Formats: sequence, C-alpha cells, structure tokens
Amino acid sequence: MPDPANEVVDLVFGRFRGQVLYASTVLGVFDHLSNDRDVEAAELASMINADSSLLYRLLRALATIGLLSENENKAFRLTAAGALLRSDHPRSLRAMALVTQGPEAYAAWKHLVPIIRDGRPDGFRREFGVTIWDYAKANPAYRALFNQAMTSHSTVQTQLVTAALRSFDFSAISTICDVGGGHGHLVCGLLQAYPHLAGIVFDQPQVVAETDLLWGPKLGLADRCRYLGGDMFREVPPADLYTLKMILHDWSDDDCIRILSTIRRASSASVNLFIAGVVIPGPSEPHFAKLLDVHMMCMQSGRERTTNKYAGLLSAAG
Ligand code: SAH
Repeated sequence: MPDPANEVVDLVFGRFRGQVLYASTVLGVFDHLSNDRDVEAAELASMINADSSLLYRLLRALATIGLLSENENKAFRLTAAGALLRSDHPRSLRAMALVTQGPEAYAAWKHLVPIIRDGRPDGFRREFGVTIWDYAKANPAYRALFNQAMTSHSTVQTQLVTAALRSFDFSAISTICDVGGGHGHLVCGLLQAYPHLAGIVFDQPQVVAETDLLWGPKLGLADRCRYLGGDMFREVPPADLYTLKMILHDWSDDDCIRILSTIRRASSASVNLFIAGVVIPGPSEPHFAKLLDVHMMCMQSGRERTTNKYAGLLSAAG
C-alpha cells in the first residue's frame, strides 16, 4: 500500500515546482532552448545573463519535473512539455505560468486564511486595495500578460467549445457576441468554423485597445470580427448568440445575475446563450474545478459552480 506520507510530502513541497517553472520562464530559459540541440548551462547563462553554476542547478530541477532533459554531458534540451513554455509555441502556456505563479497571485493567496475565517473573498483587493480589473487597468504590463494568459486557456478551450457546439445548428445565426471575450480567441475560432458568421468581441475598452494582441487582425478575420469596448454590467450589443467563457466564475451570484440580465435585455427571449467554464461535479469526484474555486476566492469575489447553481442564476436573470 502506498505510504500516505509520500502524498503529503509531495503536496507540502508542491510549490517548488511552480516556482522553479515561474523563475525559469522569467529568465527566458525556455525561449533560449530547443528540442533539437543540447545546450550547456554555461552557454545558456551567457545568453540570458545569469550565473552559470546556479543556473545549472535550476536546469537540473527543471529536468526533474519533466520540462527539460539532461544528457550525460550535463547539457539540456526542451521536452514536449517544456516547449509549451516558449513564447512562440502555438499553444504557449507561458503567460499562464507567469500570471498564475507570479507575485500578484502569490500576494493574493496569502490572504486565504482570513478570507475563510471572516467569509469575505477577494485576497487581491485585500492586498492591493483594488479589484484585479482596476489593477490591470492601471498596469498595462500586467494587463497584457493577464489577457495573454486567458488566450493560453483559450488555445485549449476554443477547441472544446467548437467541439461541444458541433451539433448546434448555426444556420439561423448571423451575429455572435462573446461577452468578456478578451483578445477574441473564441470568436475567431467560431468564425473560422462557420464562414457565414460575423462576430463581436465585447470587453473592457482598455482590453480591446490592445491592438497588437487581437486575434481578429492577426488571423485575417478583421472584416468579420468587430471589437467593442464597454461594460457588461450596463449594456451589451445585440446579437443572435452570446457566449460567456470563463466569465461568470469571476463574480458573485448577484453580479452574475446582473451580467445575465444585461444580455437578456439586449436580446429576445429565444436568444442563444452558451456558457463555457469549469463545472463542479458531485461531492465524491475530485476535480480541478474544486481547486480553481479557491483561486477565484483569492483573486476575486468569484466562485466555481455546479450545473444546478448555473440553472438557478439563469432563471433568476429571466
Ligand atoms: N472570455 C475570455 C476572458 C476571460 S477573463 C477567455 O475565456 O479567455 C475575464 C474577462 O472579463 C477579461 O477579459 C476582462 O477584461 C473582462 N471583463 C471584466 N469586467 C468586465 C466588464 N465590466 N465588462 C466587460 N468585460 C469585462
């Protein structure tokens, strides 16, 4: 029988993995290595301006967690997993690593004990005095990274959403609107799958203003993909179909009802609305959603929900 102490020890030291990964991403380790050439620590150290013997120890740790492989001559190359941390990988997870393991997230998580004790979520606000959205508004570098991290999620999730909607008949739909659509990865995925559709990416003005990072122009879809800045608590543009991906988990129940009501007001009773996110499964089932739920109480006032809970929000919003 496996010793449960091993499990606990693995959890206790679990943070090391995330921080080794984070520091290496910041240092540019992954962007300077490849999967077809072995590089020694000294050579990499001169490329990224680091101390070669300490860098060697970091690289060895990265090999231990499967992101690099080390050969007999102590030289390193990327594994398939490590390649995902390069900036130029089509499914890059670099920004997600930087945001999730970065200093803001650590600072927000340190409030978890008082959050649970006094029943008030949002460690981010406890730490920085403002919500993550106001912080991002005032910090363009954090904002760009955060939005790129959301795109990182989307590289996986857009495929899942498109697959989930395969049996949905889009023929009567002309305009889709992704509310809180970030840089537009999901809208562009749907526009590519359904050439007759026009899309609106609706998000905060400062997000849709990040023109260099928007997917519509990058993918040659600018003529069918419109970016619109606004506040989803006040007004969303009319559309035949709305999507909300990884949005409702950012907000309290009351705020979710306000967002859903805004969509309801902009549309007819027969409007199509697709909600994409993680769903909390039954009590006996371990699931990533149950951990992400804790992240949401640290970073914001949000939460993950069961399907029943979503149904309750939808009927409350009419
Ligand atoms: N749907 C995207 C982004 C999710 S992150 C994805 O799945 O990748 C949440 C998004 O909500 C961010 O892009 C943020 O800018 C946006 N957002 C937050 N408050 C908003 C508001 N009041 N109105 C419109 N968008 C908002």
